[in-house]
Amino acid sequence: MPRIDLHAHTTASDGSLTPEELVRLAKSQEVSTLAVTDHDTIAGLSRAIAEGERVGVEIIPGIEISCLYGQTELHILGYFINPADLRLGPALAKYSASREDRNPLIVRRLQELGCNITYEEVKALAGSATVGRPHIAQVLLRKGYVQSIAEAFDRYLADDGPAYVLRLLPPPEEAIGLIRQIGGIPVLAHPVYTSRLKEPFEQLCATLKGLGLMGIETFYSSHNRQQTDRYRSIAREQGLLVTGGSDFHGDAKPQLLVGTGYGNLEIPADLLEPMRALIKERRSDG
Ligand SMILES: [Zn+2]
Ligand SMILES: [Zn+2]
Repeated sequence: MPRIDLHAHTTASDGSLTPEELVRLAKSQEVSTLAVTDHDTIAGLSRAIAEGERVGVEIIPGIEISCLYGQTELHILGYFINPADLRLGPALAKYSASREDRNPLIVRRLQELGCNITYEEVKALAGSATVGRPHIAQVLLRKGYVQSIAEAFDRYLADDGPAYVLRLLPPPEEAIGLIRQIGGIPVLAHPVYTSRLKEPFEQLCATLKGLGLMGIETFYSSHNRQQTDRYRSIAREQGLLVTGGSDFHGDAKPQLLVGTGYGNLEIPADLLEPMRALIKERRSDG
């Protein structure tokens, strides 16, 4: 069966590979269908699609929009969006401004916590990519404040960590609504990261489905077998689509490969069929 990956980042957000490099890597990893899902931007899509046509990888136009559910940040993936939709630009401009503003504040919090790093170092490391928490984690690692990227998140940068700064984010209904308006399928990304919510996952899904959510990212690099099975059965019970992706970021998450995650990610290619059927049905409804 062909290999697919429905979650990957480029230098348009906090990934380390350009859209072209990402698509060529996917090709070399035998990924036949790849969704490019940068954070709050579609800036990498047209280049990825062009390279996909050139080398023979199908590119699904995607996005990953951050939103705030109570005090917790959730990420909503959007698939088969129309990047040319005029409603997209103004909404995304607002989100990326809030992303930019936050990073110097996170670095300041880290300084207060005794980590002697500067925002200039973080920016230098990010290069032309948009600065994100993975870059801050790398600087902490390089300077010896943590032993791994995972530790940087666990000790400082996680959503409930001491250095985290909440952004002004849209509520889930806005993120989900925007994705649907621009023709896309909204899917809850990496459900394992919602485990810090007090609310049972089933209830979260039901609430988000009520707001228009259509799927759950069931297959994910850091999900174990048990978690995958659980998310799949919840998706089935609630009539939500099952999707899967690696969340590839390049050097920012160096052990993680496009298509195979940490080596044991197997995303069934046939999960694309119900997604395609849904898109076709919607388009024929006009
Ligand atoms: Zn995410
Ligand atoms: Zn992601």
